[in-house]
Amino acid sequence: MITHFPREYEDRNNFKKINMLLDGDSCTFEGEIASKVTENRIRKGLSVYKVLIKDGTGSIVASWFNQSYIKNVFRVGERYLFFGKINRRFKSIEVQNPVYERIGTGEHKNLCRIVPVYPSTIDMSQNTLRAAIKSAMELVEGKLEETLPQWLREKYKLAEINYSFSNIHFPRTFEDFNKARFRLAFEELFLMQLGLLCIKMTLTEVETGIKFKKSEAEMNEFIKALPFSLTNAQRNVLGEIERDMESQKVMNRLVQGDVGSGKTVVAAIALYKAVLGGYQGTLMVPTEILAEQHLKTLSKLFQPFNVNVALLTGSQTAKQKRSVLESLKTGEIDILIGTHALLEDKVEFENLGIVVTDEQHRFGVRQRAVLSKKGNNPDTLVMTATPIPRTLALILYGDLDISIINELPPGRKPIKTYSVNNEMRSRINDFIRKKVAEGRQVYIVCPLVEESDSIAAKAALELSEAIANEDFKDLKVGLVYGKMKPKDKESIMSQFVNGDIDILVSTTVIEVGVNVPNATLMVIENAERFGLSQLHQLRGRVGRGAEESFCVLYNEGKGSVSKERMKVMEKTNDGFVISEKDLQLRGPGEFFGTRQHGLPEFKIANLYKDMEILKIAQDAANELLMEDPLLKHEKNARIKEVVKERFAEKIEELSFL
Ligand code: ADP
Ligand code: MG
Repeated sequence: MITHFPREYEDRNNFKKINMLLDGDSCTFEGEIASKVTENRIRKGLSVYKVLIKDGTGSIVASWFNQSYIKNVFRVGERYLFFGKINRRFKSIEVQNPVYERIGTGEHKNLCRIVPVYPSTIDMSQNTLRAAIKSAMELVEGKLEETLPQWLREKYKLAEINYSFSNIHFPRTFEDFNKARFRLAFEELFLMQLGLLCIKMTLTEVETGIKFKKSEAEMNEFIKALPFSLTNAQRNVLGEIERDMESQKVMNRLVQGDVGSGKTVVAAIALYKAVLGGYQGTLMVPTEILAEQHLKTLSKLFQPFNVNVALLTGSQTAKQKRSVLESLKTGEIDILIGTHALLEDKVEFENLGIVVTDEQHRFGVRQRAVLSKKGNNPDTLVMTATPIPRTLALILYGDLDISIINELPPGRKPIKTYSVNNEMRSRINDFIRKKVAEGRQVYIVCPLVEESDSIAAKAALELSEAIANEDFKDLKVGLVYGKMKPKDKESIMSQFVNGDIDILVSTTVIEVGVNVPNATLMVIENAERFGLSQLHQLRGRVGRGAEESFCVLYNEGKGSVSKERMKVMEKTNDGFVISEKDLQLRGPGEFFGTRQHGLPEFKIANLYKDMEILKIAQDAANELLMEDPLLKHEKNARIKEVVKERFAEKIEELSFL
């Protein structure tokens, strides 16, 4: 109960004389009951009870609805304290449903102080919660064991634990509250950071990985043969990867790069390095379409270098699979690309040296670990196109080292983006026709974040039918959605890839990473329902060829926030800027959407507002671990215990690496 923290506070310390009360004030005033309680039946089931209150400066009417017991509470001449929101109309002042306490009856529980307001349900009143938490606090007061070491508390001016709990619930002053909150938020972020760093250290320090040889000449030859020269950002990231691969420690690296920044070729080069070192490599992707696309790309790159690339997916025939698995075991296959099918037990490598996962947010830590287990501490590389601010990346991927490709290949034209409303529909439809007439292809996306309910799926179906049978009867329209049979989905997708479909209506982000350069227009329905980062990802499906590309966002949101969000999309093509903005406008909870992102939930810290505290906590965690890497010292025993307690689940997950 004591970690059920208030969501806000009411300052009932703020006293005023009656004649100083302003409209809209929330404050406390003192007065004498100057009338009997009157009862007024406004209509059946609605009665209002009123009483007049006076002090030396003026008078005010207090009213309560349907609370008949009020009749028996007040007597003329008694003195009370009141707190509530003031309504001032012309000459009359009123306060509705004020909190009241009689003067001279002992300590004030709900008045003359800062009062916590707790997250609650309709059925549980604030008074009940407050009283319960108050007694819980009384039980533990002075007995909470300090979790943070003395030196740390001194260095970062962190309040003591008992003081902090007591003042987060029932602060005497806002200064006390601030001290308490700082400590508790710091602690939460600090422990999380320590936990993540411990996991990372366990992975990199204890295990010994493969020391790949340099192979400088061969690597250069391969890079020279690429159809383009690498961007500086790609070179830098490759440098970091190579350093990891050549060292004894196990690589655990995340490559973050905006859509289209060229992560695939970076993965290919890392895979090639492993092959040159005499090892096998594997690349895991979330969908079959993507697996096939990567197979094509990599086969082309590797063909002159005598590297054997193969594919493993769920929809292959048993015979195909068997043959792949056999040559994998003998080491005939150098690089295996595949979907979740790679995780199956019967997939055995001869000597797996590197594991790459693309679009990592589709896979959990556990799945990565299963794949790594198929080798002897192979290096791992994780790629993601969801750009997030660095500080947050440290939280989400604290167990990984981070590399960023912060540059797009030259010559990319920004995608022209327009936010429109339904009135523009016929003009937009004309535009779609025009693009198709020019030989281009079009995506239309409907906002189903998860197709969990059939109603939503049906709505998308209806929309696509309307598009196919009414708006664009004469064109070839295809539909894909999550619940479709994989075979049908793949068939529609490949028709789109081959140019046999003009307009692809899709319900969601099902096909991350598809590359159809001939598609130059994306129309997104109800764009206000998507996160900005998601819109950006979607938009990244166009603008992949030489032709100018467009994105149309139907915004049915009425609020100013949704307008502002659309404006961000119109103004910038930079995924990092967009994600910062998204975070700012929606807050981290919304930003990350579902829990699949693995973002821990915080009881008190707020990842956006507490960025400063987060940075301090990160420094402190680094400092502590620098001195005592695995928290082995006796003096850190308590903190180790707390970290373990909080991270039990995660550590278990990772201990099987
Ligand atoms: P993503 O990072 O979104 O996975 P891809 O790896 O699919 O991006 O690359 C997008 C496109 O850019 C591909 O067609 C790829 O061949 C091309 N590309 C990658 N690197 C470069 C580069 N340095 N110069 C020019 N084109 C590049
Ligand atoms: Mg990609």
